[in-house]
Amino acid sequence: MKTRLRLLFLFLFSTALLTAQQPKKPTASDIHESIKKLNFLGSVLYVAAHPDDENTRLISYMSNEVKARTAYLSLTRGDGGQNLVGPEIRELLGVIRTQELLAARRTDGGEQLFTRANDFGYSKHPDETLAIWNKEQVLSDVVLAIRKFKPDVIVNRFDHRSPGSTHGHHTSSAMLSVEAFDLVGNKNSYPNQLSGVDIWQPQRLFFNTSWWFYGSREKFEEADKTNLLEIDTGVYFPSSGLSNPEIAALSRSQHKSQGFGSTGSRGSQIEYIELIKGNLPVDRNNIFEGIDTSWNRIEGGKAIGDILYAVQNNYDFNNPSASIPELVRAYKAIQNLKDEHWKIIKTKEIKDIIATCAGLYLEVTADTNHATAGSSVNLNIEVINRSNANIILSNIVNPNGVKIEKNLKLENNTGFDFKETLQINSNQSISTPYWLTKKGTLGMYAVDDKKLIGKPETPRDLNVTFNLNIGNIAIPFTKAIVYKTNDPVKGEIYKPFEIIPEASAKISENVIIIDKNQQRDIEVIVKAGRDNLEGYVELAYPRNWSVFPEKQKVSIATKGQEERLIFTVIPPKEQSEGLITPMVHVGDKVYTKELIEIDYDHIPFQTVLLPSESKIVRLDIQKRGENIGYIEGAGDVVPESLRQIGYNVAILKPEDISAENLERFDAIVVGIRAYNTVEELNFKQQILFDYVAQGGNMIVQYNTRHRVKVDQIAPYDLKLSRDRVTDENADVSLLATNHEVLNFPNKITKNDFEGWTQERGLYFPNEWSSEFTPILSMNDQGESEKTGSLLVAKHGEGYYVYTGLSFFREFPAGVSGAYRLFANMLSLGKNEMQPSNQIKN
Ligand SMILES: [Zn+2]
Repeated sequence: MKTRLRLLFLFLFSTALLTAQQPKKPTASDIHESIKKLNFLGSVLYVAAHPDDENTRLISYMSNEVKARTAYLSLTRGDGGQNLVGPEIRELLGVIRTQELLAARRTDGGEQLFTRANDFGYSKHPDETLAIWNKEQVLSDVVLAIRKFKPDVIVNRFDHRSPGSTHGHHTSSAMLSVEAFDLVGNKNSYPNQLSGVDIWQPQRLFFNTSWWFYGSREKFEEADKTNLLEIDTGVYFPSSGLSNPEIAALSRSQHKSQGFGSTGSRGSQIEYIELIKGNLPVDRNNIFEGIDTSWNRIEGGKAIGDILYAVQNNYDFNNPSASIPELVRAYKAIQNLKDEHWKIIKTKEIKDIIATCAGLYLEVTADTNHATAGSSVNLNIEVINRSNANIILSNIVNPNGVKIEKNLKLENNTGFDFKETLQINSNQSISTPYWLTKKGTLGMYAVDDKKLIGKPETPRDLNVTFNLNIGNIAIPFTKAIVYKTNDPVKGEIYKPFEIIPEASAKISENVIIIDKNQQRDIEVIVKAGRDNLEGYVELAYPRNWSVFPEKQKVSIATKGQEERLIFTVIPPKEQSEGLITPMVHVGDKVYTKELIEIDYDHIPFQTVLLPSESKIVRLDIQKRGENIGYIEGAGDVVPESLRQIGYNVAILKPEDISAENLERFDAIVVGIRAYNTVEELNFKQQILFDYVAQGGNMIVQYNTRHRVKVDQIAPYDLKLSRDRVTDENADVSLLATNHEVLNFPNKITKNDFEGWTQERGLYFPNEWSSEFTPILSMNDQGESEKTGSLLVAKHGEGYYVYTGLSFFREFPAGVSGAYRLFANMLSLGKNEMQPSNQIKN
């Protein structure tokens, strides 16, 4: 199912967006829109918790219709979500979703900001969220974001007044935004920030409400709307041929890992925003009412406005370069502005406009997409002016600050290609997401370099500067080095140029479960970041374990190649678990990180360096039965995990499910959300129930309550609910202490519920027929007991088990109690000593 889904996505991408990294090539209409934006000096900040929370209709409207600088502050990077396009979860999913937000902003014209808060998973209440996040740090980051971006208006996606009604991260984002609104203008709050940034006071704060927050459309119709502004975001843009909702849908469709592809609409569409702080505008359509958004708002701005409003009015769509002399005059005036904030923003904007008016194309490509510090790469530097503007290329400055004199007049449509060799500094930092370089906590990323806080990604510092003279004014243009290649199918492909370590290593399995009294061969994969890599590998491992051999030589001739080494791991005599890390010694350096590459067409190619560590567990486990059939759902690693403890696991496609095929299995396990995602299973349920009746075991993992595609989940009545226990340490009571599932072949005790991760489980049934025995009870703090996490029913000669326990999360984390309990579920009815019909609770 997963591969099929992935192929489908690849197909969709290949027809739509291959251009994640391609330079923008604006049309004459685009340039005119940019000039209008240049002449608007107002800013809006939209605030929510996750990638995909943001309302792209409002962001696009503010950016493209109002022409405001518009940013989305997402408190987290969405590490806790699920991934519909590939296997990456947790921090790697956070990297993907960060890039999806950036892709969304490239589409809707916004900017993207973050805090250091980590999406640690589902949270029912902001009290819990703010206890797991470091509330002071996140609030400080929100204050910093406001002081840096200087919005006139803030719009929250969520209501700060209704804790418990939605994800705790959501309400927290609104609460922190409201709190920050009253702090940002005060010199005494977070004074340590004020060396790099000034205080700032936004004028208004809104909540982007909708009928949904009122419970129903009817209730919303009747509600008091005195404090609500109505904004018609359904405008049409002739310059792009798109309606605002169509742009918003294209933007939202960038959230591909979440499956948020959406279809655009046309015609009027009202957004409601409720005033929370500041004064209510009289004009109920204008959130900037009373705020000067013209050039007059800054000292020395009027003269610039006089030039630029005329440029906007006199713009020649047939010859954009006719605007260049006046644009250059305005550029010069902007350089004399005292207001550093607007000077930086407007300098960048007007330089882009000047370059695009001239059809100026500046590009620096390397002959490889990655290299190591200290090595050298070949660069191709392309320069072309495609206008009659008077432009001279004075010089080019490479990343090491070396100036290459040119003094070339750039004649209309005459290109230059310069070849240069770049010697990369030996202390050049490795390219990787800055928030992942140091181990954080459950709730927070650790970021040592304060300058990076809030930035969407690690700034690229391998840049080339082109010093041009345009109409006798010196204007520098800076471009990051990129890698460009041609794919026979896709055509032109761009990738970022990145610095990688000379060696990286990983162990092929993330969790290694070793049965007591056994040993295990593990495979270490070493990858060379450069040619002729020579060194040796040893492992770091817990003290009481042993590894053979102690060291092995590694020798790799070509950059990018891998070498596989086998080490034998022997566990101690007692129960034990720990981490095992490969260490690659090259000269006097030791490399302990794994290099992960993320390659999807809708986002730029990503390289991520993470600590290379696998969990090793010596597990005291008994089991019965050997052969498991696994029916895949939304995708999980449960099959690999069951293989780890010695089961043979065959993946069953819906078409493989037949009475004679099922006969050879001791148990059938249904993957997470299979009944939400695999429609064909509706026709297979009876075959599965008959298999159980004849003595088989069937274990069904969690499904969500909505969009269940089968008529009957279980052979007996069973009703799914939204009950979940999110506290992974919540106390677990054993209800059916004598039931076989808690006693055979492993004796399950409370100890088996220690060390769980992220949550206990989700979407537990809350009603079931008397054939089911509830085995466990647990609940989150302040909530009633939930007894539906593990339900077992005898059906004919076999057993049907429904469980919302999060085995799919616990297995990859190597939680031994989860393995022992699952082994018991698979072994139900296989206790030869005790006929199953004699088991009583
Ligand atoms: Zn969310």
